[in-house]
Amino acid sequence: MDPKQGIIRASMDTRTLLLALLAEISLLGALAIYFGVRQRGTLAVSTWGAGLIMVAAGIGAISLRGYVPDLISITVANTLTMGANLFFYRALRIFKGKSVDDPLGVGALVATTVLIYLFSAVIPNFAARVVIVSCISALFFARNAIELAGPMPPEVRVSQQFMRWTYWLVTGVLLVRMVANIYSPPSDMMSAGAGQSTYFLAVLLMVTAGSFGMFWMEIQYLHVELTRQAARDSLTGMLNRRSFLADFERELARVRRGGSNMSVAMFDLDHFKRLNDLHGHPAGDEVLRSVAASMQACIRLPDVLGRYGGEEFALLMPNTDADMALRVAERIRLAVQMNGVEWKGERLTVTLSGGVAAYSVSGVTADGLIASADAALYEAKHAGRNRIVKAAPSPPVQAVALNGTHATS
Ligand code: GH3
Ligand code: MG
Ligand code: MG
Repeated sequence: MDPKQGIIRASMDTRTLLLALLAEISLLGALAIYFGVRQRGTLAVSTWGAGLIMVAAGIGAISLRGYVPDLISITVANTLTMGANLFFYRALRIFKGKSVDDPLGVGALVATTVLIYLFSAVIPNFAARVVIVSCISALFFARNAIELAGPMPPEVRVSQQFMRWTYWLVTGVLLVRMVANIYSPPSDMMSAGAGQSTYFLAVLLMVTAGSFGMFWMEIQYLHVELTRQAARDSLTGMLNRRSFLADFERELARVRRGGSNMSVAMFDLDHFKRLNDLHGHPAGDEVLRSVAASMQACIRLPDVLGRYGGEEFALLMPNTDADMALRVAERIRLAVQMNGVEWKGERLTVTLSGGVAAYSVSGVTADGLIASADAALYEAKHAGRNRIVKAAPSPPVQAVALNGTHATS
């Protein structure tokens, strides 16, 4: 075969590979930006997408080698592909909610551009350029792998590990390429060869697996966020009734299995309708938020607070007997009475009534225990409000299920 023909065929192969990469990476980049900006995604994903578009632009410039000045197909092209790493790093930092200042990355990019220019326009040396690009890319990739080892929400651990090891793998490939190029430098970028193919495969792997990892992390994160939101009341941030009851059932089952004791308290704000009528619903909302904060400040770590209804709250106290529960409820009552909110120049205060009941009978149901606390709350209301009443120990019969209604209000 005519050796010249061989070179032409080989160079076409490399260019075809580059164009395929260009198409795939542009598509991924556009999708990431669309997902990040228009869909439920976040800035992290769109930043990642911007990085992909930069890689695509860089590859586009590389594939023009021979048709455009070397300044574009070498210096600009490498600056673009390397600069994309700044975006990838930034995307990970945004995802983690960390600062995105990156003087080190910018410095490394500037140094790369200068060196690439030096070894293309001043002292042309392809092997030197390969070593520089491989080495600095490997450093960028390793930095991302290290970033992915840091603390992240436990729910995204699988996607995080996937992405982390992808980065280590491509770091390894680039280091191998660097060493291989020192020992047997290829003649130029467009020549086909095992080294070149490996390099392009590494780029493909990094881009595909990395982007998949980014989407995956984002989806896992959104899932966690959605689950978290579904469990909480948006006004007070407390668990909603459904999640509170789920926790309550779990704790009761634990106690029944032979754990220690537990108590529950039910609270209801006093004359809250009047406060709403006098000052308006937004004032009422503000008071509810403030009451929730006061309550939260009074409880211990294992205690669980829930917004049980409109102005009704429930408190689950694991490992707590009736007397201790009464003390906690009293503390809450006093805190709520003392705190208040400023509303249009006026100080709004509110009080609450409460009932506490402790687990005492092995056959008691969650509904039964809550009904006991609720009956005590009803007594507190009738006795004049702004007080806590302790329920009589539950009799060994099932209390009436509440079905969402209350003895009070
Ligand atoms: P009592 O001392 O007997 O409990 O009297 P009350 O006025 O608190 O009882 P009632 O059940 O008649 O009124 C509860 C009020 O709570 C009525 C409702 O408008 C108000 N409320 C319930 N949920 C919210 C809320 O999310 N925001 C506001 N602002 N008010 C709420
Ligand atoms: Mg009330
Ligand atoms: Mg009520």
